[in-house]
Amino acid sequence: MTAFLTLDDIDVSGARVLVRSDLNVPLEDGAVGDDFRIRSSLPTITRLRNDGAIVIVASHLGRPEGRDPQFSLAPVAEHMVELAGYPVTQLPGVYGPEVDNALAGAEPGDVFLLENTRFEPGEKKNDPELAAALAGLADYFVLDAFGSAHRAHASTVGVADHITSVAGPLLAAEVAALGALLEDPPRPYVVVLGGAKVSDKLGVMKSLLPKVDAMLVGGGMCFTLLAAQGYKIGESLLEEDMMDEVGELLASERGSRISLPTDIVVADRFAEDATATVVPATDMPAEGLGLDIGPDSAEQFARAIAEAGSVFWNGPMGVFEWESFRAGTETVATAFAASPALTVAGGGDSVAALRSFGLEGEISHVSTGGGAGLEFLEGDSLPGLVALERWANDA
Ligand code: ADP
Ligand code: MG
Repeated sequence: MTAFLTLDDIDVSGARVLVRSDLNVPLEDGAVGDDFRIRSSLPTITRLRNDGAIVIVASHLGRPEGRDPQFSLAPVAEHMVELAGYPVTQLPGVYGPEVDNALAGAEPGDVFLLENTRFEPGEKKNDPELAAALAGLADYFVLDAFGSAHRAHASTVGVADHITSVAGPLLAAEVAALGALLEDPPRPYVVVLGGAKVSDKLGVMKSLLPKVDAMLVGGGMCFTLLAAQGYKIGESLLEEDMMDEVGELLASERGSRISLPTDIVVADRFAEDATATVVPATDMPAEGLGLDIGPDSAEQFARAIAEAGSVFWNGPMGVFEWESFRAGTETVATAFAASPALTVAGGGDSVAALRSFGLEGEISHVSTGGGAGLEFLEGDSLPGLVALERWANDA
């Protein structure tokens, strides 16, 4: 089991604390869209502030090529102030004289937000100089960005080479919830996978299949699986170059653990107001494309979820953004929320779907980490966690 120091192991009062949060939220017209990651990150920042730390928050946002004002964290700082009700000072850079000047007069309880870490070319390269500069801002490092812990960047891993580094409460909660599924999931262990692409999820399918009792597959990705089984899928999403691998997985000894939809909601075109028809998965029309699992499949998936001991869900069952293709995701989400099982959800769109149904509060753990969560469940060691473990072993 992962061992690391936590906030309980350090005295932050009067100290400068660098917190790496995951504030990588979608922006809409220059303002914060879905603020789930900000809301999830704030309790750690507030706790440090209340404990009398000088709090310096770092995060990346999007994929800027160098310094690009479109990817400034300024809207995030504004949104943090609205949610938190205390001042958050947006700094003009990640390090350097301007940042030093702003921090020089800081008092315990002050909260600062550095500019997008990816404005620095050294961030993704885990450049030692950038890591040292970041570490030079603070006495302690708190890694709370579970969603970035699978990346060995300067602000997630490099900085931990220099100053005492601990796990933040959000990261610790993520590791506890996902760790329970990884180590000893209450049985039956059911994994529900959906979303757009098989290529995103084939790795997790392969490594989870030996560990689960059932794997329920919907979403755009199920059509490549159906095609690999020889069904005609019309104009539905198909990743042809994945068909061989997927076919092997289905035909393997444990392939019978995979459940595919038996009925499909087919649209006559890819549009919100398309005509929707339910057809058997064995009899999809040549023209038209599958945009949701059908009602029988949704009920069958819902039953498996209701009877499970633990359920991990990643990826919507259909194009839930459009009303005519929402039902499969809603039925599965409702069963997931109502199930007495240990329930863990991950993935930006899956979490957005849960929230749109008002079910977010009914889940055992809603993970902020999409890719990081999947890698963790696959049993990969995440570089961010490895960097923290060193401090626990040295202590
Ligand atoms: P998550 O963010 O939860 O990991 P993904 O990003 O993998 O999920 O996939 C979500 C997207 O998949 C949604 O935008 C949804 O509209 C799309 N999607 C789901 N089913 C289909 C389908 N049958 N055809 C096309 N797109 C789909
Ligand atoms: Mg997504």
